[in-house]
Amino acid sequence: MEFTDIERFLDDFEYVVNTDSASGNNDGVLKVAHFFQERFFRLGMACGIQLPGNGTVPCLKATLGDPPHDMMFLGHMDTVFPEGEAAQRPFALHGNRAWGPGVCDMKGGLLVALHALETLKKTGDLDKISVCVLFNGDEETGSTQSRPLIQETAKTCRRVLVFEPCRPDYHLVNQRKGGGWFHIEVTGKKAHAGADPHLGINAVVELAHLVPLIQDLNDENLGTSAQVTVISGGDKVNIIPSLATASVDLRILDPKEKQRVEAFFAGLSRNRLFEQSVIRVSGCIDRPPMTVTPKSLAIQEVIMAQAQKNGHHHGGHHHGGMFRRQPDRFFGHSHH
Ligand SMILES: [Zn+2]
Repeated sequence: MEFTDIERFLDDFEYVVNTDSASGNNDGVLKVAHFFQERFFRLGMACGIQLPGNGTVPCLKATLGDPPHDMMFLGHMDTVFPEGEAAQRPFALHGNRAWGPGVCDMKGGLLVALHALETLKKTGDLDKISVCVLFNGDEETGSTQSRPLIQETAKTCRRVLVFEPCRPDYHLVNQRKGGGWFHIEVTGKKAHAGADPHLGINAVVELAHLVPLIQDLNDENLGTSAQVTVISGGDKVNIIPSLATASVDLRILDPKEKQRVEAFFAGLSRNRLFEQSVIRVSGCIDRPPMTVTPKSLAIQEVIMAQAQKNGHHHGGHHHGGMFRRQPDRFFGHSHH
């Protein structure tokens, strides 16, 4: 199968990239959704815009055939780029590279999904498959409203392809780390450092004592990383601090690590240095890792075989992926 209509693809690319659709800019997201809705409709798909959760975030679902679907095409219409970004640096082609907000992550991917289906229509193969497309509108802020919709929809599909960009070397991503954040709050007791040190319970010292224990969670072989990333405590140089806090970024590759890590934090207060300090821990591993399975390898084989026929050389690849949950921060294009 050849990808033939490159001119049309580029016209679509220009329109979609030049339509600002930052997470939270739901009018922009809706505009992108309408573009795709019309095209899926023309393919004979049943499609509609859904507003899951609090009813503000447009998501587009399009189906062909009855569930269970052979394939789910998953993607997101929102970007990390604020309103006005597309006007500042609109879609452009330099050589064989496209530039503009979201060309990679992931408006280009959405168009690949659309054009793949349109190509199948042209070759007469579309009616042979049952497919479900779901594009959400709040991925960059953690899919907080759309997550249940994605989970429910995925249950009606045998396989899922996510149209996020591949690695720069065209390698597929077949493995991703999961993870979560933990927050620790230590409460001690204030006292004058000079006059009454014996009356104080030093929250900073207590917290500092916990840091190496957290560091010990790291296990390169298992693919677990635990990093104390933010720490604070104390107020005045002559006062024993009564409060200290720390935040920990956790990534896991082995799903079983969730249990070990969460048990560790649940039991952290048992490692108290001072009998009277209070250690509170919150957080959990809320993103399970995506692991390689015989089923995912089988899909990859099919993709690689077809890519080779088309003259591309892809390979499986695992990536210590990132995930993004915070609204207002931009971590860069290729991170997820
Ligand atoms: Zn993305």
